Amino acid sequence: MRPEILYPLFASVASLKGVGDKAHKFLTNLLGNDKIVSLLWHLPSGIVDRTYSPKLSEAIVGRICTLKVRVVEHIAPQNNRQPYRVIVEDESEQLELIFFKIYANSIQKNLPVGTIRIISGKLESFNGKLQMSHPDFILKPEQFTSDMKKETVYPLTAGITNRMLNKFTAQAIARIPELPEWLDKEFYRQQNWKSFKNALSIAHHPQYANDLEPWNAERSRLAYDEILANQLALAIVRQKIKKQAGREIRGNGLLRKKILETLPFELTSAQQKVLDEIYADQSAKFRMLRLLQGDVGSGKTVVALMSMLNAVECGTQAAIMAPTEILAKQHLETMAPLLENIGLRIELLTGRIKGKNRSKILEDLENGKIDILVGTHALFQENVVFKDLAFVVVDEQHRFGVHQRLSLSEKGNQADILVMTATPIPRTLVLTAYGDMEYSKIDKMPEGRKPTDTRVMPVGKLMEVIAGLQRKLANGARAYWVCPLVEESEKLDLAAAEERYATLQKIFGNKVGLVHGKMKEKDKDEVMKRFKKGEITLLVATTVIEVGVNVPEATIMIIEHAERFGLAQLHQLRGRIKRGCTASTCILLYSHPLSEIGKERLNIMKQSEDGFEIAEKDLELRGGGEILGTKQSGFTVFRIADMSVHKNLLHIANQDAKMILETDPKLETERGKALRTLLYLFEKDDSIKTYKA
Ligand code: ADP
Ligand code: MG
Repeated sequence: MRPEILYPLFASVASLKGVGDKAHKFLTNLLGNDKIVSLLWHLPSGIVDRTYSPKLSEAIVGRICTLKVRVVEHIAPQNNRQPYRVIVEDESEQLELIFFKIYANSIQKNLPVGTIRIISGKLESFNGKLQMSHPDFILKPEQFTSDMKKETVYPLTAGITNRMLNKFTAQAIARIPELPEWLDKEFYRQQNWKSFKNALSIAHHPQYANDLEPWNAERSRLAYDEILANQLALAIVRQKIKKQAGREIRGNGLLRKKILETLPFELTSAQQKVLDEIYADQSAKFRMLRLLQGDVGSGKTVVALMSMLNAVECGTQAAIMAPTEILAKQHLETMAPLLENIGLRIELLTGRIKGKNRSKILEDLENGKIDILVGTHALFQENVVFKDLAFVVVDEQHRFGVHQRLSLSEKGNQADILVMTATPIPRTLVLTAYGDMEYSKIDKMPEGRKPTDTRVMPVGKLMEVIAGLQRKLANGARAYWVCPLVEESEKLDLAAAEERYATLQKIFGNKVGLVHGKMKEKDKDEVMKRFKKGEITLLVATTVIEVGVNVPEATIMIIEHAERFGLAQLHQLRGRIKRGCTASTCILLYSHPLSEIGKERLNIMKQSEDGFEIAEKDLELRGGGEILGTKQSGFTVFRIADMSVHKNLLHIANQDAKMILETDPKLETERGKALRTLLYLFEKDDSIKTYKA
C-alpha cells in the first residue's frame, strides 16, 4: 500500500484550483495520466527573461522588453484585414501595439487612454516605427510583481498554455511533502545535493540557462532518485528469485541428441557457448534467471528448445511465452514437427482456445501428458496448472518490462527462467531494463547469410519502386510493405495503411493483403496464412508486431516514412526478410524534410546489419530514452534521467542498490523505510509488494 505521506502527490490534477474538465483532459494528454506527481515530473524547458527594461529610444529591436508606458491613442481598423492599433509612449519615444482579431472592447478596457501600464513582449520595428504585436502581458503597475521578470517555460501540448501550467505547477509544488531522506548520508553530503522537496521545487524555478541543464545539482538529484528506484526495484525482483532454491536440472542429453541429428545444420559456436551458460545455470542449486540476447535470425529458437529439452529429459515440463498470439503460433509451428518426431507433446494455449479443447489441454497439462506448452503472457496469469513446470522461456521479442512478468513464473515450482530478447541493447540500457540479470549473447550469426541490399530513397521515387516490385513479384517474390508510423495515433496509422492498400490494390489486384493492429486475430491469421501460402504476394502491414512473423519466402521489404521509425525498429523490421539464404532487398522510403540526424540514421541502416552496432549508434545519436523509437515499445523510459547524460549515476545507483539489499535485504532500517517511499514515489509498487507488511 502506498504510504499516506504520498497521497497528495497521487491525487488527480483535477484537485488543483483552476483545473476544470477541459484542462483536466488536456493535462492528461500532456502528462500521460492525471496525477499531480506527473505534473511535477514535467520540468521546465526554458526561461523567458523579462528583466530588460530600456528606454524606448535606446531599446534593441528583437529583444523581449518589459516597459512602463502611458496609453496615448486607439486607432480602430478600417476593415477587418487591418489590425487594431494602440499608441503608447514612455518619456523618450512612441510605440505601436498591434492586435489582430481581438475584440476592441477588451483592448479598450485593458488600455484606457491616459493610464500607465506595464507591458512585456518582443520589440519589433516596421517602417522605422517601433511595434509590439500581442504583448505577452499588459498589467496595471500594481499588478506587476518582481517574480514576473522571469517566466518559466514548459513543454506544451494543445489546449494548455504556459500561464496555466505555471499556475497549476505552483500549486502542485506547494503540495510536495517533506519526505524522509532515502539517499545514503555520505553520498548525499558529498554531492552537495538538496532534499527531494527542495530539489524538485528549485527545478521548477530556473533562474539561468544552466538551471535547465540535466546535469545541474537539482536535476541530477531527481535523476538519481529515479534511477535508484529503477535499480532497486530490479534488484529486489532478482534477489527474490535468486534466493529461492532451484532444482538441479541435468538431463541425460538423449532428447537433445535426437533433435540435433534431425536439424539440417550444426549449432554455431555462439549458440553452443550460450547453451553451456544456460546448462550451467540449470544444473546449479539456485533458481536461474538469465537474459538471452540475440539479433533477429541469430538462432535463439533452437537455443530455447535445447534448454527446454534439458528440463524435459529430467521428466519435468517446460513453457515458452510469446508476446503475441501470432508469435506463439510461430513457435508452435517450428517446434511441433521436431518434437512430435521424437515422441514429445507440445500444445498451444491461447485466449482463443476455449471449451472442450481448452479443458482437455488443461487436464493433460495437469496430468503431465504435455511436455511443452506454448502461449502468450496473458495466459499464464489465468489458472493454468502444470504437473511439474521446471523451465520457462519468456520471449520478449522487442518488448520489455521483465519485472512485471516474472511473477508469472511463480506457477513453476522453482522454475528456471530464460528471458529472450531480439533487440540488441547497449550495455547501459541492459542495466536499466534488466538490472544485474545474468546475460548471454549470441554474438555471431549462422554462416551463409546473404547480406540485405538496403537502399534509401525519397518517396518521390514511389512509382519507380512500384515498377521494380511488379517485376520481382511477377518472378515469384514476396514482399512486405510497411506503412508509416504516425506517432501516438493508431487511428492515423490505420488510415495511412488503408490508403496505401487501396492504391496498391489498383496495381496488384487481389495479390495484396492488409494486416493491422485493429484487426481480429482470426482475420489477421487468415491474411498471414494466405501470405505464407503465396496467395497474397504483397502484404501491407502497420506495426512491428504484425510483421513479427516468419515467412522465409518474403525477401523484399518497403518501409514508408522510414525516418519516423527508430533505428532499432528498422533493424527489427528488416530482420524479417533476412531469414532465408536468398538475397533480400530493403527499401527505406523517406519524406522531406529530412534532418541531418535523420539522414545519418538512414545511412547507418544502409551501412550496417549488425544490431549491436546499430543500437550503439542510435544511442549516440539520440540518447537512450528513445532507443526503441516510441514509448510504445515499453522500454524503461525515464521521465527525468537521460542516459546520455546520467550514465555515471546509473552505475552508482546500481552499486547502491546492491549494497542496500546486502545490508538491509528487507528494507527495515531507517534508510530502508525511506527507500520504500522512494519505490512508491516512482510507482514501483510491484516490486515492493514482495515485502509483506
Ligand atoms: P531468432 O533468433 O530470430 O529467433 P531463429 O531461431 O528463428 O532466429 O533462427 C533463424 C533461422 O536460422 C531459422 O530458419 C533457423 O532454422 C536458422 N538457424 C538457426 N541456427 C542455425 C545454425 N546454427 N545454422 C544455420 N541455420 C540456423
Ligand atoms: Mg525468434
